[in-house]
Amino acid sequence: MRNFLLSLLLFVVLAGAVWYGAGKLEGPKVAIRNPKGAIGHASPFDVIVNAQPNRLEGLEIALEQEGQSYPIFSLSNRGDAQMALEGEGTRVRGTVGRRNVPSLAQEPARLVVRASLAVLFGLRTVDSVTTQDLEVRLVPPQIAVTSLHHFINLGGSEVVLYRVKPADAVSGVRVGDIDYPSYPASGAGIPDTDRSLRMAFFAVLHDQTPDVQISVFARDSAGNEGLADLDHRVFPKRFRSSRIQLQEGFMRRVVPAILQNTPDFKIPNPDNVLEAFLMINRDLRQKNAEEIAALSQKTAPTILWRGPFKQMVNTGVESGFADHRTYFYQGKEVDQQVHLGFDLASLPHSPVVAANRGRVVLARYFGIYGNCVILDHGMGVQSLYGHLHELRVKEGEMVDKDEQMGTTDITGLAAGDHLHFTMLLHGRPVTAIDWWSPQWIEDRILRKLREAGAKIAPTS
Ligand SMILES: [Zn+2]
Repeated sequence: MRNFLLSLLLFVVLAGAVWYGAGKLEGPKVAIRNPKGAIGHASPFDVIVNAQPNRLEGLEIALEQEGQSYPIFSLSNRGDAQMALEGEGTRVRGTVGRRNVPSLAQEPARLVVRASLAVLFGLRTVDSVTTQDLEVRLVPPQIAVTSLHHFINLGGSEVVLYRVKPADAVSGVRVGDIDYPSYPASGAGIPDTDRSLRMAFFAVLHDQTPDVQISVFARDSAGNEGLADLDHRVFPKRFRSSRIQLQEGFMRRVVPAILQNTPDFKIPNPDNVLEAFLMINRDLRQKNAEEIAALSQKTAPTILWRGPFKQMVNTGVESGFADHRTYFYQGKEVDQQVHLGFDLASLPHSPVVAANRGRVVLARYFGIYGNCVILDHGMGVQSLYGHLHELRVKEGEMVDKDEQMGTTDITGLAAGDHLHFTMLLHGRPVTAIDWWSPQWIEDRILRKLREAGAKIAPTS
């Protein structure tokens, strides 16, 4: 009897200790990945809990402001949020802001996440509370366009200057569904004491239409977006189309050379020269275009160029920008591509010089372009030189306008000795006709910079 009582006592003490110990276990760990600083009308939230959904006893997300608590999410009422298993944990994503809390004021607020977990075979729960202090911003960024007269040739470029508040908003120009980033206007030598003056180069691409929507956008850290109309005019342009007869001898020359110099581009049947050529013309062309787009990230936030861009001397333009080419082989149509650049032909092995001052961001064999140089001129403006013989510049180097970078040749996808030249804006081909024109440079760009306070002499 006494032994029994002792055992019972021991059991009660042990059970109590386990009960007490279980209650002392750490609650679920919660990380609030988003929002971090500010929320607005509908700002994304992203919360991670280090326990799988089926182990969670409770999970509540609330927004607190001035002593009031507003539920945003709970296991029984998820609102517009998504809950999913992520690794060993649970991830909840949704939106928080004035849309789910209509009385939210532009005052400090706090996101509160309460999580509880079952322990001791579900007999007890342990809790945790995680908070994030937030600023509430309900007014979208304000944009005031300051530059005048925005005229764009279809396939061409333009620049806009505007002031934005708050100055840390992410802003730029939206043309259709393409966003062009902006840079501080001080990067063009414009004095700007409150750092709110921005400038952005943008384009209306050859495959967009003159009535495409163009506006200036600005998004603050709370996700509020402001839009401003941009007074502008787009001049339509008709692009040429041409027929190219493929010769077997041409394909037998270019295909093996490109494949040999592009070891990571594999094709199943390199002996079928037409099939190999078509894969190069479509797939390698596309891959090169993606690599060009990625290189646009390596742009300087300042204008590196001075005055008009130079067209290669003594060259006739062999093909227009955005020439729609249809390829024929033995009388049959085999492919269609748009040629997004200019073919400039002179004497064989003519010098290839930098069209303007810039930094070399690519200097190597580059797929369909053969030996190729890409220069960065800053703020997303870049130029590409293809089919070169040898390369006299290295990646990272600064080159001056007119500095020789190599000579023309037939490397890559070239039928005869010429320079393939493309102007790029944020990695997208635009017509070089604009950039070659002293009048366009003066009217479209330098005038605007000067009107904003930059000290730039008129171009001669
Ligand atoms: Zn070309």
